[in-house]
Amino acid sequence: MSEPSAEVYEQGRGMDAHNKVMRELRDEKGAKDYAPDEPTRVWLDEDNTPDGVYQSLTIILNTGGCRWARAGGCTMCGYVAESVEGGTVAHEDLMTQVDACLEHEQEEADEESGLIKIYTSGSFLDEREVPAETRQAIAETFADRERIVVESLPDFVDQTKIEDFTEVGLETDVAVGLETATDRVRHDCVNKYFDFSDFEAACAEAREVDAGVKAYLLMKPPFLSESEAVGDMKKSVRECAEVEGCHTVSMNPTNVQRYTMVDQLHFRGGYRPPWLWSVAEVLESTADADAIVVSDPVGHGSDRGPHNCGECDDLVQEAIKDFDLRQDPSVFSEVSCDCEATWDAVVERETSYNLPLAE
Ligand code: SF4
Ligand SMILES: [Zn+2]
Repeated sequence: MSEPSAEVYEQGRGMDAHNKVMRELRDEKGAKDYAPDEPTRVWLDEDNTPDGVYQSLTIILNTGGCRWARAGGCTMCGYVAESVEGGTVAHEDLMTQVDACLEHEQEEADEESGLIKIYTSGSFLDEREVPAETRQAIAETFADRERIVVESLPDFVDQTKIEDFTEVGLETDVAVGLETATDRVRHDCVNKYFDFSDFEAACAEAREVDAGVKAYLLMKPPFLSESEAVGDMKKSVRECAEVEGCHTVSMNPTNVQRYTMVDQLHFRGGYRPPWLWSVAEVLESTADADAIVVSDPVGHGSDRGPHNCGECDDLVQEAIKDFDLRQDPSVFSEVSCDCEATWDAVVERETSYNLPLAE
């Protein structure tokens, strides 16, 4: 597979227009300094894995950020606004970030987390973001845990890099931001450059060293109606579950992040994040798929996050979190609200040339 860069992917693929807009929007942000020795975020949670539910330590490392975001990047992604300006973060600084995360865990948790999840708002397996030396040191640091998840675009998924983790005895998963199984939606609505076949190749690569893949899907990128978004997710969850090695699908609704095309559309009244009813509908209808399917709606109940009417958002969110841990679709029959009728009407009538139909 080739490397993500503006030059390679823009030419002849119609991505130059989206990238130009995204570069202009990101430039509006202006320079902001982030300390290279502080992690972007760290938190404790619980996660469902093929080996059961684990306490998890999630780490967002502050690296030089995603290469594709620097070319312009995905229409909904504001993560690059959080990365260190100027490209790379040194090994010592990255390890200081990891130490800060371990301290956080010691302070906040009674026991060590069995599952470690490392994201970079880019690709942990891209050596321009995380050098081989750092990757190996991080594998050593967490060798006494059970499982690890590292985030990467499919281009950088490589057996020898994954072996750094499997060889110290960690059950290893690569988290891939696939967004959708439909190439047209991934290219034209998300402005992400790779194909489903690249995702399949990354899964096969991971399988070679007994690692797994966790696919991240995006519900309702811009330019899709509510019903198109729901249909795209139902199809995508099933297609991901059929790929050998992809044992978990995390299906997440779009939220409106600053300095993105989604933000620009939202500001002008041309974008509404999905309804939480839509998230529930997809989870319920794909519960029989051969994969763990979870969702973690960010900013639920707010104008910039997935929302219903304001009255029932917390209840539906709770049902989703309950489903994440137990995979029991009956949790959704226990929630109802009058706004389901409005959602039904939106699903029936909203079109992609007339968005959004209701707030
Ligand atoms: S969504 Fe991922 S690939 Fe796209 S710009 Fe953001 S970090 Fe890069
Ligand atoms: Zn409601």
